[in-house]
Amino acid sequence: MPIYAYGCSSCGLQQDVMQKMSDTPLTTCPECGKETFSKQLTAAGFQLKGSGYYATDFKNGSRPKTAPKTEPACAPCAESGSCPMAG
Ligand SMILES: [Zn+2]
Repeated sequence: MPIYAYGCSSCGLQQDVMQKMSDTPLTTCPECGKETFSKQLTAAGFQLKGSGYYATDFKNGSRPKTAPKTEPACAPCAESGSCPMAG
């Protein structure tokens, strides 16, 4: 779950809030109670992972007949599950 950095423009409170990406952003400051609490641009602890492209397409080892001759360099280690790019 990503952690968002929030800040209040009224009292200057800085706080990291853990939220689901689907959660509604907070607007009420827990310190002063004003509607000036907002998400900051810098989000600590949030990092985009790989797209999962290989895990989805090659999950069963069955590949389309139109597969390109040049395999992605990452495919072998993605199948073994030890590749950092495989997520
Ligand atoms: Zn405040």
